Amino acid sequence: MAPFTKTDVIWMNGELLPWADANVHVSAHALQYGTGVFEGMRSYDTPAGPGIFRLDAHMKRLIASASYYELKIPYSVEELCDAALDVLRANKLENAYFRPLAFFDSYSFSVWPKDCPVSVAIIAVPGRAYLQGGPEHGVRVTVSSVRRIESSTLPPHIKASGHYTNSVLAVQEAIRRGYDDALLFNAKGDISEGSGANLFIVRGGTLITNDLDASILPGITRDTVLTIARDLGLPITIRPMTLPDVQTADEVFFCGTAVEVTPIREIDGRTIGDGKPGPVTQRIQRMFYEAVHGRVPQYRSWLSTLAPVLELAK
Ligand code: PMP
Repeated sequence: MAPFTKTDVIWMNGELLPWADANVHVSAHALQYGTGVFEGMRSYDTPAGPGIFRLDAHMKRLIASASYYELKIPYSVEELCDAALDVLRANKLENAYFRPLAFFDSYSFSVWPKDCPVSVAIIAVPGRAYLQGGPEHGVRVTVSSVRRIESSTLPPHIKASGHYTNSVLAVQEAIRRGYDDALLFNAKGDISEGSGANLFIVRGGTLITNDLDASILPGITRDTVLTIARDLGLPITIRPMTLPDVQTADEVFFCGTAVEVTPIREIDGRTIGDGKPGPVTQRIQRMFYEAVHGRVPQYRSWLSTLAPVLELAK
């Protein structure tokens, strides 16, 4: 895994700071106890200049995750969206990966974070494929011995930093076993999702995915894929997925901001379909890339571009 490429500035607590100055004290509550919430989003080059895909939805989810932890972000969704666009503009980025982050900062060692100051940051780095070659050729996954977190302990629909130790363990095991990523069971024994992506299968031309009650993070890309599939007229079924279901599907793919739409070509040595990206996956993938690059009029509102500012400057 290549390290990220540093950019000029990071937005932190209301200002654009040089990368090297956006620091946190080692006593920060979030570092002790994982009490941060975050997002991952991407910008793409579009005919109207660079644009952030589904920016609003990501910032709304950030605020929802924060409120679950009683973490008060002192900025509105609009202010956070503007800040992200400032980061895009100031760093002269096009295709980039964004990491908005809000967390309980340094105050005390008490587990109770009351009175901890809240810090908010938005980092952006040039984007590249999360799983190298994944979207083109497909990836190989293993079924993890680590189960996905579930709502009676850590709610899976909340994107909190501490919740990701679950994904870290699953990925470490997958890499040890020689795979690219993992599939995780939920507490019921059905397949939940990947370490950082939702899961779809295709069976007899029908697109199938699970729902919130399968301990998934409700992905924004999942929503994008479902919308695209509906608009393409593909049959969709939302239901739990068992391991045999996934193993014997015609096509299997991950979707998420980082992995975009990535076919799964093998599960623990078992080849899916003919081991190549399947036709339904490819159809969705093509429309997904057209949409994120602003080339589909009906999906253009999913992109927040810098264009309004450029128009003012004319
Ligand atoms: N599940 C998990 C566990 C994730 O970390 C992610 C990435 N945020 C997703 C699913 C996909 O979510 P999204 O499409 O909103 O990026």
